[in-house]
Amino acid sequence: MIYLDHNATTNYSPLVQEYIKNNLIKDWANSSSVHDMGYDIKSKLEKDRKLIADILSCYPKNLIFVGSATEAINTVLSVENFKLNKFKTLITSKLEHSATLKKAKYLQTQNISILYVENNKNGEINLQDLNNLCKKNPDSLLSFLSVNNETGVVTDIESISKIAKQFNCSLHLDAVQHLGKLSLNLETLNIDFASFSGHKIGALKGCGLLYTSKPLAPLLYGGQQERGLRPGTCNYAANHSFRLALEDLSIDKINYISNLKNYFEKNFLNLDKNFKINCYQTRRVGNTSNIYLAGLSAKSAFLYLSQQGFCVSTGSACNSTSEEPSHVLINLGYTKNYARSCLRISFGFENSLEEIDLLLKSLKFFLSMQKNLSYSTQLTG
Ligand code: PLP
Repeated sequence: MIYLDHNATTNYSPLVQEYIKNNLIKDWANSSSVHDMGYDIKSKLEKDRKLIADILSCYPKNLIFVGSATEAINTVLSVENFKLNKFKTLITSKLEHSATLKKAKYLQTQNISILYVENNKNGEINLQDLNNLCKKNPDSLLSFLSVNNETGVVTDIESISKIAKQFNCSLHLDAVQHLGKLSLNLETLNIDFASFSGHKIGALKGCGLLYTSKPLAPLLYGGQQERGLRPGTCNYAANHSFRLALEDLSIDKINYISNLKNYFEKNFLNLDKNFKINCYQTRRVGNTSNIYLAGLSAKSAFLYLSQQGFCVSTGSACNSTSEEPSHVLINLGYTKNYARSCLRISFGFENSLEEIDLLLKSLKFFLSMQKNLSYSTQLTG
């Protein structure tokens, strides 16, 4: 198998693999127990929180361990949190992950108004429109992806944050696809909330992180874990793996992956003059290529590539059972037909140039097969 779907999830990082093999089995105690075993786990958890805070440049008290980024997003965007922080409106975009979009729809049923800022075909937020919306709706909560999971487009967080502060709005970032692909410094970003996911960077499944510099209403009620903001017995092993995966990230790895992507894109565009990379001219992270296979069905390409042992994606993993084309591409202004010719390839550190060559070879073969097929249909039809 050649795995090229790293935006859906990625393999355990080297330190996490080592932990799973050698130490995970020992870390089963309950961090809330008051005996020595519980105390030991609790102190290791706090040490991890401190190390993660150092890496992300924030205070440990501002980090809450949760079960997933979906949970973190739902906590920030909860009705209770709107009430607690007196947010009047949610301002977001139509390019968000389904965790935000579906929660926004729910909020609407709870009489919270939702405003969608305009975006252009390159996947960029219209800052003038955002400025107007914030001016008319001060004290709103803004929620944006910092990196789009389907196109890899990087959001201009600095400009958005300046607009937010000017109109006393708060800003939440869905930073799931940011970690491991770009550097991140929470201190300089001047944001209020951020959501992160462990499994996207090589940690175990079932752990996420919520950064908050504001009071926060819990989603769940129960014990005093995570200062009562996220009750439920702590998943220490998963949380610890989050720290290990973060420690495994490096600029060298980011550059290595970026070179793979550039190599792929250059050669992919040479396969056919009508092939395109979506949002090609926009600032994108170095691991994501959303490709347009002009005139070909992405579903057929996906099935062919699967037969050849490649794991790629026709969109977000969370919507993979849907027959509908990607909402991101549609909201970028592409037709359904266009979107049905697009595939997402997302590279990771374990991929090699040889694997990219194999992918290009398979795409080339698929293209010639489809051309022959349409030629013979024309002859017989
Ligand atoms: N936000 C983005 C941008 C994502 O890509 C994902 C995962 O697909 C999520 C949120 C949800 O993350 P999790 O799987 O941790 O709930």
